Amino acid sequence: MDLRRGIPRTCDYGAATIVLTSGTVRNPRRRFYRCGANSGQNHVFKWLDEAHDEEFVVVGNKLATIEQDLTDIKADLDDMI
Ligand SMILES: [Zn+2]
Repeated sequence: MDLRRGIPRTCDYGAATIVLTSGTVRNPRRRFYRCGANSGQNHVFKWLDEAHDEEFVVVGNKLATIEQDLTDIKADLDDMI
């Protein structure tokens, strides 16, 4: 599993991310996640729309795993009865 996919909660240094809004000509009013640091290679910068697109896939995969686990648990319970 790629832990960097989806919404970034913290950077590699543990700083929580915040949502800011771009004011550039190229990306006006586009929102992004960033940790509190202004520079550095391992700090978070990620466009919010891209992070959310990834998050749908991450959550969908987790849901599929949970559904399979539930199916397995129900089958195990049926075997005990
Ligand atoms: Zn950081």
